[in-house]
This record gives sequence, structure tokens and C-alpha cells, in this order.
Amino acid sequence: MRKLTVSTLVLALAAGAFFGAGTQSAQAQKKFIAIGTGGPTGVYFVVGNAICRMVHRAAAEGRKKGRKHGIRCAAPSTGGSTYNIGQIRQGELDFGIAQSDWQYHAYNGTSKFKGNAFKKLRAVFSVHPEPYHIIVGKGTGITSWADLKGKRFNIGNPGSGQRGTTEVLMAAYGTKKSDFKIATELTSTEQSKALCDGKIDAYGYTVGVPNAGVSIATDGCDAKIINLNTGVEKKLVDENAFYAFATIPKGTYKTTDADVTTFGVMATFITSADVPEDVVYEVTRAVFENLDDFRKLHPAFRNLDPKLMIKNALSAPLHRGAVKYYKEKGWM
Ligand code: GLU
Repeated sequence: MRKLTVSTLVLALAAGAFFGAGTQSAQAQKKFIAIGTGGPTGVYFVVGNAICRMVHRAAAEGRKKGRKHGIRCAAPSTGGSTYNIGQIRQGELDFGIAQSDWQYHAYNGTSKFKGNAFKKLRAVFSVHPEPYHIIVGKGTGITSWADLKGKRFNIGNPGSGQRGTTEVLMAAYGTKKSDFKIATELTSTEQSKALCDGKIDAYGYTVGVPNAGVSIATDGCDAKIINLNTGVEKKLVDENAFYAFATIPKGTYKTTDADVTTFGVMATFITSADVPEDVVYEVTRAVFENLDDFRKLHPAFRNLDPKLMIKNALSAPLHRGAVKYYKEKGWM
């Protein structure tokens, strides 16, 4: 047995050397992949780690059945959507989670990505909806975007999806940074604590519902999520396919005493055309073969439907490894 394993390995290595950069099956041997997520109290971190869990489960089951993929996976916390897109482009991350608006802009070279399109960006599937939240501290009296004027507002860390979406909203409302008393750049993990400590009055956050970060502020110190449903948001939704109106249902958090209407995006799972087909195929397969378990890992995943996940909110082309799996399943 031992001899067979060694000679198989030698053959695989020889094939890899012969075909230059390595055949795809050779590359799948002991491949380490990294998935970029978001802050540790957000939903991306759960998505990334749930995907790694499925990949490792598929590996363990495969070992028993002689179907090995050799992929080991890690999903570290990162700065968020645009950070992930940038690191995938550099080849530092293999996969990442990104808001559908930033996937669109990165692929098409628009907005923040003007003159800097990432044409090798590839979509794998979409995940959960992410409403854009404005969360306001108790006693601040803020009930609308206009009330943020003269207040201490967290616009988010550079690299986060909410930072970009907040800037889009600021432009749509004609709000400048100097209109706030201070515009802070705290991360998603820091912002709820800062709100509860009275260091900021409000923050903007694009995130799945419910999540631990928001509940620290709502359930922890009576912060509230306000409506964003004026003509400004309506225009954004009407003009951009990647935005839609969203509802954060009454009862989601302790202070959600009525449905909140806002606009939002979808979280999407992305990669680069440079990531080998078999790696993307195996990761995609691991997720969809275990979708029932995936759904149970977070309330935001409860309604995941494969038919929608492979087409909704995706603007970059699907990666060929994902297409291979979707065709096998007869979904395409
Ligand atoms: N939408 C956020 C971002 O793009 C991350 C949300 C989360 O961590 O769940 O940065």
C-alpha cells in the first residue's frame, strides 16, 4: 500500500512538472485555500467558516470513499468586501465574500473601481440578503438620514462594503464628511461598543439579519435601526439592479418594535479566474451537497435556494469550476 501511495505521488509530481504550472489535479493535492470574510461579529465570518467546514467534511467523507480533493481551508476575519476583492486580485486570497454592489463595480470598473476594472473576477454563488442599516444610539433623536447632520457618525473602515455604500448614499443625499461632527472609520466590531459607550451617535452597516454585532447595540444599549425609504433610496433602487428594498422584520432585535424599511444588497461568494477549476468545483460541490446543514448554521441562511443562488445578484461571470458543478446537477 505504502509503495503505491509513494509512486502515485511521484507520478502526480512528474505530471505537474511536465505540464508546467501543474495539472489541475496535481494542484488540488494538499491545496490550502483562504476565504476573505468580514469582522468577527458579522455574518461573512460565519459564511466563510461554514464553507470551510463543508469543505473539510467533504474531505473526510471523500477519504472514506476514496474520493480525495486534498483542500484545506481557512476563513480569517478581514476588513470586508472591497478588501476581499483587492486581495483576490493580488492572489493573496482564493475566495471571498463581497456585497453584490461591489462585485458589480469591481467587474465593470465603475464607482470606486473606475479605471481599475477587475476582469478576472468570477462569481460562484450568492448567499444572504444584506440590508443597509443606520443604527442610532438611544437618546440621540436621529430618525432619518437628514438628522445625522452635525452628529458623530461611523462611516466604516476603508475596505468594508458599508464604507463604500455609505459613500454612495452620502453622494446621493449631497452629504459631505464635513456635515458630520466627526466621521469615524471604526470597524464593524468596534462600532457597536463605541455606540454603547457614547463615543459615536450612529453608524452605517451593510449586514445580514440577524447578527451578533448589531444585537450588541440594540439588545445591549437600546440602539435602534431607522427607516431609509425616501425618494433618494427609491432612485438608487430604480437605477441600480444590485439594490433592492429590504425589510428588517419587527421583533428581530429587542428594539425593533416595527418593521424597518431600507435598501440593501446581497452577499456573494467570489473568486478569480486564476483559481483552478477543480478547486472551485470542489468548494462549490461541498457547499451544495451539504446545503441543508449550511442553512442551519445561521438564521440568515435559512431560505437559501440553489436555483436563486446561482443566478441572483451576480454580475461577474460564473467561474468555470462552479459552472461544471451546476451543469452536472442540471441547474444550468
Ligand atoms: N457587508 C459587510 C462588508 O462588505 C460585511 C458584513 C458581514 O461581515 O457580515 O464589509
